[in-house]
Amino acid sequence: MKYLSEFRNPEAAQNLALKIKEVTKRNWTIMEVCGGQTHSILKYNIDELLPDKIRLIHGPGCPVCVTSLEMIDKAIEIASQPDVIFTSFGDMLRVPGSKLDLLSVKANGGDVRMVYSPLDAVKIAQSNPDKKVVFFAVGFETTAPANGMSVLRAKELGLKNYSILCSHVLVPPAIEALMSGFNSSINGFLAAGHVCTVMGYEEYLPLAEKYKIPIVVTGFEPIDILQGILKCVTLLEEGKNIVENQYSRVVRKEGNLAAKEVIKKVFEITDRKWRGIGLIPKSGLKLKDEFSDFDAEKIFDIKNLQVDEPEVCIAGEVLQGLKLPIECPAFGKECTPENPLGAPMVSSEGACAAYFHYKKVKIN
Ligand code: SF4
Repeated sequence: MKYLSEFRNPEAAQNLALKIKEVTKRNWTIMEVCGGQTHSILKYNIDELLPDKIRLIHGPGCPVCVTSLEMIDKAIEIASQPDVIFTSFGDMLRVPGSKLDLLSVKANGGDVRMVYSPLDAVKIAQSNPDKKVVFFAVGFETTAPANGMSVLRAKELGLKNYSILCSHVLVPPAIEALMSGFNSSINGFLAAGHVCTVMGYEEYLPLAEKYKIPIVVTGFEPIDILQGILKCVTLLEEGKNIVENQYSRVVRKEGNLAAKEVIKKVFEITDRKWRGIGLIPKSGLKLKDEFSDFDAEKIFDIKNLQVDEPEVCIAGEVLQGLKLPIECPAFGKECTPENPLGAPMVSSEGACAAYFHYKKVKIN
């Protein structure tokens, strides 16, 4: 297949759905890790094409959603300071911190700017030598290479006014945390294709073996997802706990070696707190000491904030696949995309936003 239309072909989708029905003999719960896949599943009604025996649950693969409340509050504190230009991808601007969001800082006169690439933030730093320019570096392994490149570029240019607020998270430790929980009902995973484009899938091999689960690296179009589910169910029915690659047009086992090299050069593994989930050991990236001049947390000496999630928001359970967004009492009532109480309703990859936009849910 070469064209997007082929990956959205209704007839091909129906054929795959029939094949899935044929191979499914028992009940299986499959988690798609990535929020982009969640949006495709709901947008194209893929869940409704599947037999009742297959339950899809949504995972923690939304980078905006899992950025901790403390980190958002740190971003807000830095962005509120004079002589700072705070830059971020658009999604992060509306994510509520414990009191404000970054857009409110902007409305109150802060210089908060949306950028499409961290290298744009470096350019802003070049043209504003009298300002401190900070980029909010969030995301999984997918965005880490570009964010790392921005640090290398700033160093190469000799910039003293560029830094990143680093909040990177890693997928394999999250899978480990989900599987080692007492109440995990997950039988198999669809792994996020774009993360594996960078990292490959070698890291998934020991996880599949240790937790006796098939993991299928899967893309984002409807046909990708149906093929990923078909592969996963087939492996489950055959009792095979291995890793397979549905997204072979993009993903290689070893990943993108140049991108991995940048990550290795700039970052090191650290424990990371995930919003709504808590601390997951060795699940994040932080800047290496040799790049501490570019570390906003060190430059701005932000205190270690401790804040509690709003009680009404069950995002932690949603992100772990324990509850569906529609089971949240605030869904579609107090919490909507215009007035979000939690990150999964703000983010373009958030599960709550996906249900809000694509599911015809009756709200009482
Ligand atoms: S619907 Fe809103 S309040 Fe409920 S879990 Fe989602 S983001 Fe949180």
